[in-house]
Amino acid sequence: MTYLFPAEPPKTVPIHDDSAAYPIRRIFCVGRNYAAHAAEMGGEVDREAPWYFNKAPYSATLSGATIDYAPGTENFHYEMELVVALRAEIFEGSVDAAQDVVFGYGCGLDMTRRDLQQVGKDNRRPWDFGKDFEDGAILAPLTRAADFGSVGEQAIQLRQNGQIKQDATLADMVWSVPEVISHLSHYYHLGPGDVIMTGTPAGVGPVQRGDRLEGTITGLTPVTVKIRNDPAQPPLD
Ligand code: MN
Repeated sequence: MTYLFPAEPPKTVPIHDDSAAYPIRRIFCVGRNYAAHAAEMGGEVDREAPWYFNKAPYSATLSGATIDYAPGTENFHYEMELVVALRAEIFEGSVDAAQDVVFGYGCGLDMTRRDLQQVGKDNRRPWDFGKDFEDGAILAPLTRAADFGSVGEQAIQLRQNGQIKQDATLADMVWSVPEVISHLSHYYHLGPGDVIMTGTPAGVGPVQRGDRLEGTITGLTPVTVKIRNDPAQPPLD
């Protein structure tokens, strides 16, 4: 097989204490998985079923990068999240079976063009413009599940220029990691390379050019990103 142009290699995430990298196949994101964040967005958590949106693998960028203020937005937000990476196939799996397919966990930032997301909500349009764009998923190196232990009372925090903006625990998630995997597996043949961003706690907010973000979860490698300070970036017409 020859390609018309060079094919992009898959986006990958480093693995803590491992020379192999984790290749990303898909990125699923859980909507409103912390009640306090749902409230700040003007909604309430619906315990009937979790729901999702997706980011293309191409949106993934490694922690430590300097990224541009996203184009087309005037309200670029951070959302700090626990990232779950799968290691094995699961389809129509039980909650009990779901834990076995977890490869590991990482810190991630679900970067969001909040104004464009709002346009989508207001007009009953898709969220893609608000959520799926270059540098929209900032991912830190993964830690194997066995090295992390059980998901529970670990703190999840986001600092903006050193100031704490988001502060919760993983136990605050409405839907647990195995519940999310089991539910999602009734709609997709999940497998190795599938990554799930599990939702953000309260305290989301806008970033400015020159900002430095650091997201931490106890026991995991932090995720960091800097927003390029480039005043020359022209506004959109
Ligand atoms: Mn999110």
